[in-house]
Amino acid sequence: MADAKICGRFAPSPSGRMHLGNIFCALLAWLSARAQNGSMLLRIEDLDTSRCTEEKARLLMDDLLWLGLDWDSGAFPGKAPDEFYQSRRSGIYKEFFEKLAAQNLIYPCFCSRAELHAASAPHTSDGQFIYPGTCRNLTEDESRSKMQSHKHSWRIKVPDETITFNDRHYGRQSLNLAREWGDFIVRRSDGIYAYQLAVVIDDALMGVTEVIRGRDLLSSSAPQLYLYRLLGFKPPQFGHLPLLTAPDGRRLAKRDMDLDMGALRSRYTPEEVIGRLAFLAGLIDKEEPVKAAELLPSFDWQKIPKENITVTN
Ligand SMILES: [Zn+2]
Repeated sequence: MADAKICGRFAPSPSGRMHLGNIFCALLAWLSARAQNGSMLLRIEDLDTSRCTEEKARLLMDDLLWLGLDWDSGAFPGKAPDEFYQSRRSGIYKEFFEKLAAQNLIYPCFCSRAELHAASAPHTSDGQFIYPGTCRNLTEDESRSKMQSHKHSWRIKVPDETITFNDRHYGRQSLNLAREWGDFIVRRSDGIYAYQLAVVIDDALMGVTEVIRGRDLLSSSAPQLYLYRLLGFKPPQFGHLPLLTAPDGRRLAKRDMDLDMGALRSRYTPEEVIGRLAFLAGLIDKEEPVKAAELLPSFDWQKIPKENITVTN
């Protein structure tokens, strides 16, 4: 089973404390990589600098280490923010953005939020809004003159093409770019590079081979795989996880404060938190304290449920 080339990653966003759902994904990403003798990397996804702070990033790292989830490269506590913070990488994103521009694959979009809503564009099953392509057909002259006076984002043209891939957990997936996504934003009107672009560039340049995350991001795999291809990168293995939900069926969120790391750390030991998550993940038969590393010998993706998991307090 040993494959030294496997590299998994934690990619938390320091907009708040992690909650049980985030830790669930972190634990399974760590177990999956470590069970293959792989390495782990930690990247701080702080593109939204208005909500993310260094202090919150430090807490995230401290929480992961408290849980016994370590990593080999990337951002570390006590180290100044560096190239593993997305907010510091816009120069790199710009290079690749310009590569897409040089291939005539992107175009400026002048639509305001209100205009987009008024366009009553179709939505996908999960409520994702699909851009109707309004600005795609502006002539170069029209675009250039509008750019002088209008705020604009940049969108990438997507073909009417179905992207197919094998998910580590959910098997074969097929998603149509035009129908499920439409032309998506690669740079926001405030100049910040969009998550979809940043995450692909980062995972590719950082050598990440395995991306484990919640199934709420499953459909994102299609635009990301499309970008991997356009930018000439080898795509990672994607593996999506069931979501943790409250008894009323809604997804656990940061607002479930009783389940955030601050509250959990004040009430439980790391082994108790890991034991609870391992039990929810089907990795142990009864809920009891366990260290993350003790789960490695018997770790098996087959044990993890496909359906979302209800958490009762
Ligand atoms: Zn537009």
